[in-house]
Amino acid sequence: MDIIEIRNINKSYGENRVLNDISLKVAKGEVVSIIGPSGSGKSTLLRSIADLETVDSGSILIEGYDITEKSMDKKEKKKILLKTGMVFQNFNLFPHMTVRNNIARTLKVVKKASAKEADEITKQMLAKVGLIDKIDNYPNELSGGQKQRAAIARAMALDPDIMLFDEPTSALDPELVKEVLDLIKKLRDEKTTMLIVSHEMKFVKEISDKVIVMEKGKILEEGTSGKVFENSSSERVREFLKK
Ligand code: ADP
Ligand code: MG
Repeated sequence: MDIIEIRNINKSYGENRVLNDISLKVAKGEVVSIIGPSGSGKSTLLRSIADLETVDSGSILIEGYDITEKSMDKKEKKKILLKTGMVFQNFNLFPHMTVRNNIARTLKVVKKASAKEADEITKQMLAKVGLIDKIDNYPNELSGGQKQRAAIARAMALDPDIMLFDEPTSALDPELVKEVLDLIKKLRDEKTTMLIVSHEMKFVKEISDKVIVMEKGKILEEGTSGKVFENSSSERVREFLKK
């Protein structure tokens, strides 16, 4: 079974059709990257999968459950939405909480974890992203790359089956990009299913099982890295990649 299946979704903001009949399947363990010019609907697509946006029509199935089904039980839906974790361009850490509490509080609130359990998982996750020495620091005491790694640790702490990354390195200084991309590569090696929006073409080419090129709310092309980057039959795709 596909872990994500999107069937013909559409979304408009007023007259602006942002998602135009998008269909997409992601298999368990697959790494799928979404590229395309600014404004093409990449963030809206990811946000729709995380239920941060509501689509106008079509369906989104996560592990077989249709999250667009309006009659779905609220509790049931919450459980299904926990299968996805999302990481944003601007980290979205709670600024008034230490790194430890960013993660531990989230575990307690979202997963009803005990203090002991939350602390254990927090340390485990921070060790994994190489930030255990920053556990009692506040976000503003961290570099951009460290903030993003802490945000990834927080998302991973909830043990999602799918990670969604929306331009995770776009807000970082160039010298900090690598540490975040290396961490995402490590997650791939652990077979985490990931959907990644990124402008880091070299990274996308290297990490992706499948690459999707979007433009104006539509999927222009979908295929392996090799096909999309080296052998695209679409003039528009070749133009975009040249830039
Ligand atoms: P991308 O991530 O590919 O840059 P987005 O999904 O952010 O694209 O945006 C797609 C289009 O939707 C853009 O034209 C953008 O201006 C518009 N849009 C995004 N969010 C909103 C919103 N909340 N209200 C109105 N228009 C929006
Ligand atoms: Mg975006």
